[in-house]
Amino acid sequence: MNSGKILKDRGKPYKYDADVEKVQFILENGGFSVGKSGIDGKYGKDTAKAVKAYQKTYGLKVDGIVGKETWGHMTAEQNTYDDVLGFQQLLNIFGYSCGAEDAIFGKKTKAACKKFQKQMGIAVDGKLGRETWNAILHMETRLITWGFIVTRWSVQQFIGAMGLNPKLCAGKNTLKKLNEKPIVSRFKESDMVCQCNKKYCDGYPAGRGKYYGVAIMAERIIRAAEKGGKIDAYIPSRKRKTKGGGIAGGYRCAKWNVDRKGAKSSQHLEGVAIDIACDNKADLKLLQKYAKKLNVYGGVGDEGANVVHVDLRGKKSRWKYN
Ligand SMILES: [Zn+2]
Ligand SMILES: [Zn+2]
Repeated sequence: MNSGKILKDRGKPYKYDADVEKVQFILENGGFSVGKSGIDGKYGKDTAKAVKAYQKTYGLKVDGIVGKETWGHMTAEQNTYDDVLGFQQLLNIFGYSCGAEDAIFGKKTKAACKKFQKQMGIAVDGKLGRETWNAILHMETRLITWGFIVTRWSVQQFIGAMGLNPKLCAGKNTLKKLNEKPIVSRFKESDMVCQCNKKYCDGYPAGRGKYYGVAIMAERIIRAAEKGGKIDAYIPSRKRKTKGGGIAGGYRCAKWNVDRKGAKSSQHLEGVAIDIACDNKADLKLLQKYAKKLNVYGGVGDEGANVVHVDLRGKKSRWKYN
C-alpha cells in the first residue's frame, strides 16, 4: 500500500480492494473478527469495527480508519499471509494437525502451534514468533539434509525409519534423530528394481523415491547386526547366488508378485519394503533379532530360508514363513 492511501468504510456499494483484503487477514490473524462475510476485500462496518478494536488494543488513535499509523503498526507487528500459510503447511506436514491451510491464524492453528512449542521446548504462547518459526524451519532443513522430501508421508517414513511411532507428530524424539548425522544407506534405488527383469514393468512400478525410509531402517538393522563384526548380509539384486533365485529386494510389480507368491497386499508393491538376504544362519539370526528390535512400528518377516523382510507399515507386524 502506498503511504498516502487511506482505507475506510466509504459506504455502499462496497468495492473490492486488495489492500483491504491484506488488512482483513492481519485482523483475523490477530484475533479481530472482520465479521460474517469474512476476508472479502470490502471495507464495511464490520471491518471498521475490527480496526477500532485493533487500534484500542494497541493504543492507537481509535477511528476505524487504516491510515499511515495503523497500517505501519499492522505491517510491523503481524505475520504475512505467506508466513502463516507456510507455517500451517509445515505444522500439518510434521503431524500437528492445524486444519485447513487458509493463512488464518485461528483456534486450530493456535492449538497446533502451542503443541509444537511445547514439544520443541520453547515458550508456549501460541504465536508465530521468530523462535517458533526458526524451530519449524530447522526441522524442515534437517529433513532435507537427511535426503527426504518435505511431505507428511515422508515425515512418517522418517519417523518410522527411526523406530518411532509414525502416527504421532514429529516431536522432541524425532527432532533428536533429525539432529543426528544422517545415515547413508547402502541400499540404492537401483538395488530396489523389480526382479521381473522388465518382463512386466519398467522396474519401478510404484514410482521412484518411495524406498528411502525403509532403506535407512534396513541399514540400521545391518549396522546393529554388524556391531560384533562383519556379517554376510547382501542385497539380493546385486548379488544373487542363492538357490531358488528370483528374490526381490525392493519394488515388485503385481504380476511379479504373483509369480513370487507374495502376499496380495505386499508392501513390496508400494516400493516400501526391503528384503535383506543372508546365507549364513548365525548372521541371519542376528538380522532377525535387530529387525524385530529396531523396527518397532514396521513389518518384520522371516521370509523364507535366507531373507529378512523389512517394511515401515506404521504398525507392528511379525511373521514367519515355513
Ligand atoms: Zn516388474
Ligand atoms: Zn519381503
